[in-house]
Amino acid sequence: MKIRLDTVVKTFDTFRAVHGVSLDIESGELVALLGPSGSGKTTILRMVAGLEYADAGKIYFGEGDATDIPVRNRGVGFVFQHYALFPHMTVAENIAFGMKVSKVKRSKAEIDARVAELLHLVKLDGLGERFPTQISGGQRQRVALARALAVDPKVLLLDEPFGALDANVRRDLRRWLREIHDELGITTLFVTHDQEEALDLADRVVILNAGKIVQQGTPEEVCRNPNSAFVMKFLGDANRLSATVRNGTASVGGIGFAAPDVADGKAEIFMRPNDLDWSAEGGGVAAKILRVIDRPDGRRILATTDQGETLELDVAPETPAEAGNEGFVTVRRGRVFGAG
Ligand code: ATP
Repeated sequence: MKIRLDTVVKTFDTFRAVHGVSLDIESGELVALLGPSGSGKTTILRMVAGLEYADAGKIYFGEGDATDIPVRNRGVGFVFQHYALFPHMTVAENIAFGMKVSKVKRSKAEIDARVAELLHLVKLDGLGERFPTQISGGQRQRVALARALAVDPKVLLLDEPFGALDANVRRDLRRWLREIHDELGITTLFVTHDQEEALDLADRVVILNAGKIVQQGTPEEVCRNPNSAFVMKFLGDANRLSATVRNGTASVGGIGFAAPDVADGKAEIFMRPNDLDWSAEGGGVAAKILRVIDRPDGRRILATTDQGETLELDVAPETPAEAGNEGFVTVRRGRVFGAG
């Protein structure tokens, strides 16, 4: 089921949380809404769910106008971080709940068969008789997903479903969710403030800031072509150096960077830590090492330039570097934005 948001607005009292957002989600697509806290992600998801009504604009499910359809008639399944399971019901009863209260009547045998199928889908075969307190946090979220899927929703809505779990469990669950999505082909909207999660999981990432979409595209598009300093900084660690643009080129440490769309004058060059290298001699931006941090996959150098700008460099683990060393930062890649 395709979903379309057309200039949707939401205001709480006098505070506008969502500013005329328009968004198309194709049938079968997995879209991540990504943004910092307070950027409006949950509010948008709740409007799609029908848990919150838009003050202006329209929401379409397929060709139909769903803007005023209440949540129970929208055919959506949701999993929220804090949308707890019913503690007094077993895992199987939790999964069966939606089917039992649905307008669509099913026999007990049909419900039992569907529960067994869903337990298998979420890889919890044999755990149907346990209570929620007798399974792990990751397993509980898998039950929550099975419960959401039980009523064959047209759309699946997920709000930070793995937010409360530890990093390794989150990673496993997100791969698993992607597999389930590919198997079922259900249109899915996923809210997260975790960049890695969005990039790992989604077909398309929609980046929000202060209630507006600031960029959207495939993970490759947003990573390789961030369209603003905000997106560049939000998507991952970014270094910033001041520069001056002249005739479409910004230069730093003797290296010129193409800045065709940036007006002459003050600008900022942003670089990822692995866009930078360290050398004891040669050219580049003169700098002094403040700290060296060793990690399993490499070495991070914190250095400061003569202008007092701090840089973070990810270099090969064998790179000779010690606090106090003076040397040069070479820049392999950078992206220029006008200073704003
Ligand atoms: P987070 O990642 O912290 O959950 P979010 O991007 O999901 O953030 P929303 O929960 O959509 O953000 O909130 C957007 C803005 O709207 C915030 O400033 C929030 O304080 C405000 N807001 C949300 N719900 C309400 C409400 N019921 N009443 C008043 N303000 C609200």
